[in-house]
Amino acid sequence: MKIGICPGSFDPVTLGHIDIIERATKIFDKVIVAVLNNPSKQTSFTVQERIGLMQRATAHIPQVKVDFFEGLLADYTRLCGGAAIVRGLRAVSDFEYEFQMALTNQKLNKNMETVFLTSNSDNMFLSSSVVKDIARFGGDISTLVPTSILKDIQLRLCNKNNGMEEDVNESGNC
Ligand code: ADP
Repeated sequence: MKIGICPGSFDPVTLGHIDIIERATKIFDKVIVAVLNNPSKQTSFTVQERIGLMQRATAHIPQVKVDFFEGLLADYTRLCGGAAIVRGLRAVSDFEYEFQMALTNQKLNKNMETVFLTSNSDNMFLSSSVVKDIARFGGDISTLVPTSILKDIQLRLCNKNNGMEEDVNESGNC
């Protein structure tokens, strides 16, 4: 069974992520979406929340399993028996970082391949940061994130709509 690993922060999940995950399932028998848990990186959603949102957003894809990882992706991929890491490429700006990561991961685990899927044209400029910026200022994100998790994302990020300064990690209550 060929397993593909889709790693990322997914803070929060966007339609760009879902597109890459859906397409990865056409290449691999099973796709593990690995949510990064990095306590030193500030995120708007906790790792448990990001896992829950991803599970709901991928509930329609039976080959997908959602998990989390800490530490080196090379170690996690080896442990899971992953055949390759799958990453999305949007614009040229993604390329240098992704190329560096792919080479680094190959150094750490010489059997590890990275497969790049190009973003589709609708999602070319879509990122979690764009979603957060739009939502915080009350903009419409309904065409940017999966419908099944739209409300949860709005609820969390609308803290910023009110011009309140509190840390979004502290509370999800608007
Ligand atoms: P990371 O912090 O690891 O880059 P992200 O959550 O930002 O995590 O992205 C996870 C993966 O999804 C990466 O491979 C990224 O390139 C890809 N990705 C993010 N947004 C898009 C998009 N709009 N279209 C295609 N791929 C995307």
